[in-house]
Amino acid sequence: MNSNLSLQPNYDIQSLNTLSVPSVAEFFVTIKSDGDYAPLLSFLKEKKSPLLILGGGSNVLLPSFVAGIVAKIETKDRELVAETDTDIIMRFSAGENWHDIVMWSVENGFCGIENLALIPGSIGAAPIQNIGAYGVELESCCEYVDVIFLDSGKKSRLTREQCQFAYRDSIFKGELKDKVLITHVALKFAKEIKSKKEGADKSTKNSSLNLQYPALRSKLVEIHADIDHLSAEQVAHAVIEIRQSKLPDPQTIPNAGSFFKNPVVHADHLERIKQDYPDVVAYPTENNHFKLAAGWLIDRAGWKGKVVNNIAMHHQQALVLTNPESASTQQLLDFADKVCASIYKTFSVELEIEPRVFK
Ligand code: FAD
Ligand code: NAP
Repeated sequence: MNSNLSLQPNYDIQSLNTLSVPSVAEFFVTIKSDGDYAPLLSFLKEKKSPLLILGGGSNVLLPSFVAGIVAKIETKDRELVAETDTDIIMRFSAGENWHDIVMWSVENGFCGIENLALIPGSIGAAPIQNIGAYGVELESCCEYVDVIFLDSGKKSRLTREQCQFAYRDSIFKGELKDKVLITHVALKFAKEIKSKKEGADKSTKNSSLNLQYPALRSKLVEIHADIDHLSAEQVAHAVIEIRQSKLPDPQTIPNAGSFFKNPVVHADHLERIKQDYPDVVAYPTENNHFKLAAGWLIDRAGWKGKVVNNIAMHHQQALVLTNPESASTQQLLDFADKVCASIYKTFSVELEIEPRVFK
């Protein structure tokens, strides 16, 4: 391998995954600049070694030993691509921290990702599950995604349409799974409108903001007198306040956010559930289907706050599995199986794990 890249054998990566699962990489390397990609790919080809790409480790379940190379992406760069009076396109290196980008954008008066404040991890991983929260998804401002194909080293640019974004899904979980490394993501932001009347105050009527999500709206009503005149920064701070009040901080209680996806069922299935559980929480999607709140199902089936072998579904947020004693991935999967079986028995609904499980 290129002498600039230092490949570390038997490297402990427990602290590099937010679930704190004990895990050791056969080889570990940190990718710090775009120049590191070519030697990494040459090495993989030469040694026929498998690769596990790691960003912030906030959406993975790692095995106790990872054969091959774990490459942690830490490239950092921000580049202005285009700017008009109304919007701006910026291209970010994959290793940039997502929340730092959110705060940078709102502090500069750029709208689009304020509802996605405090989501852990890197921007390079954001397109993979089309990160979403409080009614906004990455796809709404993603301009394009740059990738390198792992087998050929060929670079390619995918437009938003080519990324095939869907609910917590994209082409990177399908056709391109394990085939590409995301090197850059470009985002398009709307500039906040400053009215002369309000002078330098950024808090002007801002049609670019998405304030429809009920929990966000109620928080904004609670803390601001006039929610028709808010800045993106104020929205980001409201999101941060809500998240800090109900989500466990992985630094203190290891977790990977939502452990299960919200299941989607047909309207007939929902009607059957409603016969026994009239208060089931469901939202219409497409083609006569409904998204069920997985957290509600888990809570109603009695798993909220229930502890088995020190693993639990969080007492404040039933969708978050917590791992305070650093159990292994297998132990977490055994616990998850019990939760899934119970949900299936109660509601005839199959839950699917959201983080990527590496075996
Ligand atoms: P990692 O966990 O490191 O990797 C995730 C996957 O992406 C892996 O398969 C990895 O191999 C791959 N990958 C990473 N970087 C690259 C790259 N450059 N190229 C190719 N593949 C790559 N998610 C949401 O959608 N909404 C939320 O509101 C949300 N809230 C969360 C709250 C908490 C407390 C936690 C712990 C997690 C939350 N998540 C949420 C999940 C997670 O933060 C996101 O999925 C995030 O995008 C993962 O980023 P990461 O850098 O940590 O990815
Ligand atoms: P919540 O507000 O308690 O709502 C529970 C569920 O109901 C959410 O999953 C949400 O779906 C859905 N929901 C609520 N209002 C909705 C509406 N008007 N239309 C459609 N769906 C609606 O959720 P929460 O657990 O506190 O999380 C708040 C937000 O942060 C959610 O968007 C959630 O996805 C996101 N979050 C994600 C993760 C993760 O790891 N993926 C972790 C923490 C928080 P959606 O999930 O589709 O929005």
